[in-house]
Amino acid sequence: MRTLRSFVAGSWHTASSGLRPLVDPSTEEVIAQASSDGVDFAAVLESARRAGDELRRSTFAERGAVLKAVGKALRAERDELLELSRRNNGAVTPDGAFDIDGASGTMSYYAAVARQLGDRHTLVDGDGAQLWRDESFWSQHQWAPRHGVAVAINAFNFPAWGFAEKAACALLAGVPVVTKPATATALVAERTFEIVLEAATAAGLPDGALQLICGGTGDLLDRLGPQDVFAFTGSAATAARLRDRDNLRAHNTRINIEADSLNAAVLAPDVAPGAVSWDLFVKDVVREMRQKTGQKCTAVRRILVPTQRLDDAADALAAALDEIVVGRPGAESVTMGPLATADQLADTVEGTAALREVAELVHGSGERVDGVGVDAGTGFFFGPTLLRAANARAAAVVHEREVFAPVATLLPYGGEAVEAAEIVALGGGTLVTSVYGDDTDWLTGFVGAVGHATGRVYVGSESAAKAAPGSGIAMPQSLHGGPGRAGGGEELGGVRGVQRYMQRTAVQGHRSLVDTVTGAGVAEGD
Ligand code: NAP
Repeated sequence: MRTLRSFVAGSWHTASSGLRPLVDPSTEEVIAQASSDGVDFAAVLESARRAGDELRRSTFAERGAVLKAVGKALRAERDELLELSRRNNGAVTPDGAFDIDGASGTMSYYAAVARQLGDRHTLVDGDGAQLWRDESFWSQHQWAPRHGVAVAINAFNFPAWGFAEKAACALLAGVPVVTKPATATALVAERTFEIVLEAATAAGLPDGALQLICGGTGDLLDRLGPQDVFAFTGSAATAARLRDRDNLRAHNTRINIEADSLNAAVLAPDVAPGAVSWDLFVKDVVREMRQKTGQKCTAVRRILVPTQRLDDAADALAAALDEIVVGRPGAESVTMGPLATADQLADTVEGTAALREVAELVHGSGERVDGVGVDAGTGFFFGPTLLRAANARAAAVVHEREVFAPVATLLPYGGEAVEAAEIVALGGGTLVTSVYGDDTDWLTGFVGAVGHATGRVYVGSESAAKAAPGSGIAMPQSLHGGPGRAGGGEELGGVRGVQRYMQRTAVQGHRSLVDTVTGAGVAEGD
C-alpha cells in the first residue's frame, strides 16, 4: 500500500499511524493512505520563516523565473498527472486537464506577471495624492511582502490547481507556502507538489519555501501569527470552524476564505430558442453541470428562466443531459466520472431528496446509478440531475443547500432584471453568476443589480459566443471569490492575487522623496 508523504523542514516524512485511505471512486479500491502523524509543525514554520528571509531578497522577476520553470515542469508531466486524476478523482481526461492545465497555466501566467513587475521588491499602489498646497507633502501607497508564511488548505476537487493558484501568488509575493491538500484526493496533490518542488528548487527557490502536509494540520493553525496568511478553500462549515480560532483572532492573522457557492445562470427575456445566446446558455449550463461531475465550486446550481420559457429550457437541457455517459474514466464513450468519495455520494442523494421537497425531477433519478466499465453496484456514480421548482422565492432549500454534484434546479422568474438579481442574491453570496442575453439595457440593469451578491459576472451573448469558455473557469486574470456564503475572499485577479500576501502602506513626505523611496513614477519592468 502506497503511503503518501509530507515534505517538511527539508525532507520527506512518512507517517506510520493515523493513516486514512484514498479510494478509486470508480472501483472503490483503496489505492493509497495518508497521515501527517509525527510532523513537527513548529519546525515546519521555523523552516518556512527562514526561507522567507531569503525569498524576500529576490525580486519579482527572479521569483517569476521559478514559476516559469514550474509551469513547464507540470506541462511535461501532464500525462502522468491525468492518469492519477482518473484513478483518485474519477476524472475523465478533459476534467483532469481542467485541474492540471489550470495549475500549469496559472503558474505560467504569474511568471508573465512577474516579468512585468520586474526587478523590484515592492509594488506601487495607484497614483499619489497631494497633501499640502504644493508637493512638499505627498502620499503614495506601496505594497511590501509580508514577513510570514502562507498556510494553504485546499478542497478535494482541485488537487493541482487549488495548490497552484495559491502557491503562485504567495511565492511571487515573496511568501513561503505550507500547503495541505484534502486527504481524499491527495494522490494528485502529492505528485503535483513533487514536480513543482523539484523544478522550483532547481530554479533557485530556497529550502523551506514550499512544504506539503498530507494528512491533518495538527497545531499548525494555532502557531500562526500576525504576518502569516491562512488561505482556505473548502466548505463553508469547515471554514467557519477553522477561522474561529483564538490565536488567529488574537493576532489578526490574515484569512482568505473560498467556500461553497450556489452559483446561478440567468436567461434574459430577449433570448428565445434558436438564438445563438440560447444555444450558448444550454451548452454552458450542461457543461457546468457535467464538468468534474458537478464538483466545482463555480458549477451552476440554480438556473433562472423567464416563466414563459421554462418548458423550452427544461426540454433543451434534459435532451443535452441525456447525451452524458456516466462511468469509469477511460472506459469507452464515458463523458462523466463518479463522485469523488462515498461521503460525496451519500450527501448528494440526501441533498437531492431535500431539493425534491420543493422541486420536481426533470431529468435523473435522484439515486446512485451504475457506471459503464465497472461491475454493477460498484463506484460512486450519480447521473446528471435537473429539477424544476414552481416558485423561485418559495424554494428556500434551493438557495441554501449546495449539492456538490451534477445537480441543478430550474427556477422561473417574471423577466425583470432586478427580480432576477434579487433571486440570485437569495443564495447569500456566490462566486459567479452567468447571464445570457443580447439586450444591452436589460443586461446593464442586471449587472448593476447583482454586483453586491457575486464575485464575478459572466455575460454570455451572441457577440461573445465563439470565445466564451463557460462560467466555471477561474481565469487568473479575473478575481476568484465571492461575498457572504462564498467565503468573502478574493484570489487571483492578476496582481491583486499577489497583494493578498503583501502589506499596503501609505508613505508620506516630500513628493520627490516619496517617489524615490517607493519607486513611483518608474514604470514597472524598468
Ligand atoms: P471540506 O470538507 O470543507 O475540506 C476542505 C479542506 O479542509 C480539506 O483539505 C480538509 O482536509 C480540511 N480540513 C477539514 N477539517 C480540518 C481541520 N479541522 N483542520 C485543518 N484542515 C481541515 O471541503 P471539501 O469536501 O474538500 O471540498 C468541497 C467544498 O469546497 C464544497 O463546498 C465546495 O464548494 C468548496 N470549494 C470551494 C472553492 C472556492 O474556490 N470557493 C473551490 C473548491 C471547493 P481533509 O480532507 O484532510 O479532511
